[in-house]
Amino acid sequence: MADLEAFRAETRAWLEANCPAEMRDPMRGEKDLCWGGRRFEFQSPAQKRWLDVMASRGWTVPDWPKEYGGGGLSPAEAKILKEEMAELGCRSPLTSFGISMLGPALLKFGTEEQKKHYLTEIARGEIRWCQGYSEPGAGSDLAGLQTKAEDKGDHYLVNGQKVWTSYADEADWIFCLVRTSSESKHGGISFLLFDMESPGVSTKPILLISGNSPFCETFFDDVNVPKDQLVGEINKGWDVAKYLLGHEREMISGMGLGLGIGTGASGVTLGPVVKPEDPLTRAEIATFDVDALAFAAMSERFIDQLKAGEAHPALPSMMKYAGTELNKRRNELVMAAGGSNALEWDSERSKNGKAARDWLRSRGNSIEGGTSEIQLGIVAKHILRLPGA
Ligand SMILES: Cc1cc2nc3c(=O)[nH]c(=O)nc-3n(C[C@H](O)[C@H](O)[C@H](O)COP(=O)(O)OP(=O)(O)OC[C@H]3O[C@@H](n4cnc5c(N)ncnc54)[C@H](O)[C@@H]3O)c2cc1C
Repeated sequence: MADLEAFRAETRAWLEANCPAEMRDPMRGEKDLCWGGRRFEFQSPAQKRWLDVMASRGWTVPDWPKEYGGGGLSPAEAKILKEEMAELGCRSPLTSFGISMLGPALLKFGTEEQKKHYLTEIARGEIRWCQGYSEPGAGSDLAGLQTKAEDKGDHYLVNGQKVWTSYADEADWIFCLVRTSSESKHGGISFLLFDMESPGVSTKPILLISGNSPFCETFFDDVNVPKDQLVGEINKGWDVAKYLLGHEREMISGMGLGLGIGTGASGVTLGPVVKPEDPLTRAEIATFDVDALAFAAMSERFIDQLKAGEAHPALPSMMKYAGTELNKRRNELVMAAGGSNALEWDSERSKNGKAARDWLRSRGNSIEGGTSEIQLGIVAKHILRLPGA
């Protein structure tokens, strides 16, 4: 206990000395996120300095082992770091699908060489990753995927199409599900990593209702992938895919706390919204605040269980469902409280229509990472053990 208190004091002192003042200002939106990668353009020298100092201490991934670029912190220490960063208002130094999705899967399924190579790059923010799971005919029914990887001796030859690939046009590498056997639906899938600059890879952005194009159609036309870029065993990629999805759902559930991509107001409460006069809306906001606090408490317990390896495998589905539905409600309330002003789209006053764009973006929260209906199905089957689910 005394050790943890000493760790807290040291951590606070270090953060105060090393976090640039600009990186303690509240984020204004998605453009303030640091994604890293070969082509990332830093918003400011302070953003780059913050990434560099945190990465050199291993604190972009505080609880990963030191040999893979992490901080080697215990779960209790990592929690203290998070609390102190929140207390001082420090921004996250790096947002990355490598950290929240691929990294945990590599830690469990990767070879030693893969861990040393890819995890270290992820920790330093050198490579930006995208996720090649969904296909035009395989979303909820993900195991129906058809992108094919043929064994060509020393490499795989990949052909097919993915869809809804978030940031595929900005990513450096992709983690991708491919079909390597047609004999079994789930047992014929493999998990590959490859460079998006490989000959034969192309992307086409999809324009969304919010006016942004955060995701793409992604095409593979005779792409050569070296065999050492297979993660786990051939035809056993479904195990890797499911494990990764658990971590993706954990990450997405953070939206319930007002964190992450596509969230509306920051913080557990409605944040900067002026509370309206209308008593019904005020009552809805009060109910929302109570639910948000309950979710925050549940989330803390969930993360502790997860870090201790004690979480039920279906718990990420429950949290993903609760967190994303809450975030959708938050955005609905922001719009209701803002009245017609909240519908402004292009003005300076509305920060380029932030409320309306966030609201529209939040509609996708209960689809990405597996829809709410699918999460409810998993909860019904694996937690509630309902008949027929
Ligand atoms: C913002 C956003 C980002 C995304 N990013 C990525 C990404 O980076 N990489 C990636 O691979 N994919 C990504 N996706 C895709 C996402 O994973 C799929 O959209 C999702 O899994 C649903 O698949 P689908 O769109 O094919 O819908 P479908 O599977 O066709 O579902 C259509 C509707 O039917 C319902 N439904 C389907 N099956 C059942 C069932 N068994 N029981 C009850 N209801 C059912 C669904 O709930 C849904 O309402 C993203 C999606 C969004 C919205």
